[in-house]
Amino acid sequence: SEVAIMMDVPVTKVISACMTLGMMVTMNQRLDAETLSIVADEFGYEVDFVSAEEEESIEEFVDAPEDLVHRAPIVTVMGHVDHGKTSLLDYIREENVIAGESGGITQHIGAYAVELESGQKISFLDTPGHEAFTAMRARGAQVTDIAIIVIAADDDVMPQTKEAISHAQAAGVPIIFAINKVDLPTSNPEKIKEKLASMNLLVEDWGGKIQSHDISAKKGTGVKELLEKVLLEAEILELQANPTRLAQGTVVEAFLDKGRGYVSTILVQTGTLKIGDYVLAGTNSGKVKAMQDERGHIVKEAGPSTPVSILGLDGAPQAGDKFVVMEDEREAKDIASKRTQLQREQSVRTQRHITLDEIGRRIALGDFKELNIILKGDVDGSVEALTDSFQKLSTEEIQVNILHKGVGAITESDVLLASASDAIIIGFNVRPAGNARQVADQEEIDIRTYSIIYDAINDLKDAMEGMLSPVM
Ligand code: GDP
Repeated sequence: SEVAIMMDVPVTKVISACMTLGMMVTMNQRLDAETLSIVADEFGYEVDFVSAEEEESIEEFVDAPEDLVHRAPIVTVMGHVDHGKTSLLDYIREENVIAGESGGITQHIGAYAVELESGQKISFLDTPGHEAFTAMRARGAQVTDIAIIVIAADDDVMPQTKEAISHAQAAGVPIIFAINKVDLPTSNPEKIKEKLASMNLLVEDWGGKIQSHDISAKKGTGVKELLEKVLLEAEILELQANPTRLAQGTVVEAFLDKGRGYVSTILVQTGTLKIGDYVLAGTNSGKVKAMQDERGHIVKEAGPSTPVSILGLDGAPQAGDKFVVMEDEREAKDIASKRTQLQREQSVRTQRHITLDEIGRRIALGDFKELNIILKGDVDGSVEALTDSFQKLSTEEIQVNILHKGVGAITESDVLLASASDAIIIGFNVRPAGNARQVADQEEIDIRTYSIIYDAINDLKDAMEGMLSPVM
């Protein structure tokens, strides 16, 4: 009935439109996003879906150019397991690359900021790995400005290194390579750079544009220079924010502390957060009672790119939830409870991901220009063969992008990448492993598995031509 009112048509007409789609509905029933689009189309309307957040009329705020100031870059460290991500983050945290208060970081709050001798600052997300990075992105949060990808020089460019690269690229985040463990006699940084070059990733020494630095995270060699390269990259990005407005940012982590209540670490991305502000974060809200930095110091204000842990929310929001400061406590509470209600009504899903069946229709509607694919296979040969064939299916209307390809089972991280980048996953002679299937169901990600190359190519071709018969 709500839709009927919006379109100014009798509700019976909407019900019969649904019936022609094979859906028996009542007046009070909520329709899913796809049905809404089709029904609206019947009556000559187009549905513009807004996310729950936009819907809540959180005021659009346009920054005046004169209010914008430089802000520090926010960095995520990624790479293959055991290549030295944690060691690098620990070294930066503990050692005296930090001006003044060396080694003063006492708290693990999920993010920390360091100040270099030059006085310039860099903020680090303290949860290394592309899984955390992409999980946040799948929730709609893009926090990272620059990705440091650590590669152990006594090893090789490994599957998770490739994943990390794909995840950073899919997010459009510039990469700096940290070629690590150069203190080891068995290390061979040139071999790594050569391997990267063979993957079309040319680092500076090889005449390319991607910055890279040889380091030892254990001894600290080269770390200072690496951070200078981060600042250089940040300069190119011209990162800016408006410290005078009400704060907005992203939740990094949150938990319940027995003594203190809910503690949430948040990264302020724009504006300045102050004690006493009313904060809305995901389905939670509250008044900021106290703030602490990563050194355990009480702070009264936190400006752009600053991580702080705050007390005062009425629950623990999820990592990746956006937070906004609201003028009015009541409004913050109302929106939080509305969101909780929306979450319960799982039937109303406004953000659906692309499926193979849907591609043809979406192309026909003209709102679909890029088909993102994540491709996993059992051997390199078939992955390469499929990549080639898929890319050749690109037409003037639609570009086929292979966001990530690799050998091995379909993992949870593949699913998260698909969710963050609206991609479908194609497996050749491989299946979802571990939690991947479950997460795919939750996130509504289409996973197709094949054992005949020809079938995979044909299905995709048919789908793009809108000829695929739906799987029941
Ligand atoms: P992560 O899994 O990527 O976080 O890797 P870790 O930081 O836990 O490091 C894995 C192992 O490599 C640990 O035993 C570290 O001590 C070691 N390691 C890390 N960086 C270096 C380095 O620069 N040189 C040497 N020799 N060992 C390192």
